[in-house]
Amino acid sequence: MPAWFAENYGYGLTPLLATFVFVFGAVIGSFLNALLWRLRTGESVAKGRSYCPCCHHTLAARDLVPIFSYLFLGGKCRYCRKGIHPSYVMVELAVGVLFTVFAVRAFAEPVLSDAALAGLLRDWYAAAVLTVVFVFDLRYMIIPRSVTLPATVILAAASFLLGTGLITIALGLAVGAGFFFLQHLVSKGRWIGGGDINLGGLMGVLLGWPHILVAFFMAYVTGAIVGVVLLAGKRVAWKGQLPFGTFLSAATIVTMLWGEKILTWYFHLIV
Ligand SMILES: [Zn+2]
Repeated sequence: MPAWFAENYGYGLTPLLATFVFVFGAVIGSFLNALLWRLRTGESVAKGRSYCPCCHHTLAARDLVPIFSYLFLGGKCRYCRKGIHPSYVMVELAVGVLFTVFAVRAFAEPVLSDAALAGLLRDWYAAAVLTVVFVFDLRYMIIPRSVTLPATVILAAASFLLGTGLITIALGLAVGAGFFFLQHLVSKGRWIGGGDINLGGLMGVLLGWPHILVAFFMAYVTGAIVGVVLLAGKRVAWKGQLPFGTFLSAATIVTMLWGEKILTWYFHLIV
C-alpha cells in the first residue's frame, strides 16, 4: 500500500472516502445492470452502447449517471417516457451500500493492512457476483452458470491466497455443492436444478466450513417465511416456486458480514 494512502486513510473510513466508495459501488451497480440485461439477451458486454429496452434509443452519458439520472428523469426514459423499472436504481443503491459496509469493516483496523485491502477487493467482487445472481434468479428463475462457475474458481483462488486453509475451502465446496447435488439425485432434478449446485459450490469456497451452514440455514428460514406469506396472501400468479438463488445470495452476503457473530451466538445458545 502506498504510504500516502495509509497516512490519510489507514486509520478509519473518512466521510469523504466513504462517499467515494459509495459512488464507486453505485457505478459498479450500473455496470451490473447492463451485464444483467446482456446476460438475458446474449449480447456482448464489451460491444455496443446501452439502449432503452422500450424504444431502443441509444442512451447518452447523461442518462447513465447512477441513481441521479433515474431521479432527474423521474424514473422515465428521456426519449419515450416509458417507466424505467425501479429495480435498476435499487441495484445501484444496493451495491453502493454493500461496498460501503464492506469497506467500513476493512477499515475498522487501526491501519489498513495489505491483507485487509485484498480481502476488501475479494468481498466487493463476491458482493457484485451475488447481486447479479440475486436479481437474475428473482427476474427469470435462473441461476446463470456463466456467472457462477468462473466466480467459483476466482473466489476459491482468492480465499486460498488470503490465507483460508485448503481443507476449509474444499470442505465448503463439497458441502455446498454436495448438499444440492444429493437433492438433485433424490428428486431426479425436480426440486433442484444445476444452477443451485453451482451456486452452492460458490458459497462453499467463499464462506468455507462451517459458515456455509449458517448461510443455508438463513436461506431456508427466510425462504419458508416468504413462502408462507405468499401462500397466505393467495397470490394468484404464484405457482409455489421460489427463486431460491435469491435467498441463497442474500444469506451469503449476510454470512460474509456477520457469520462469525451468528455462529458464536448460536454456540452460546446450545452449550
Ligand atoms: Zn425509451
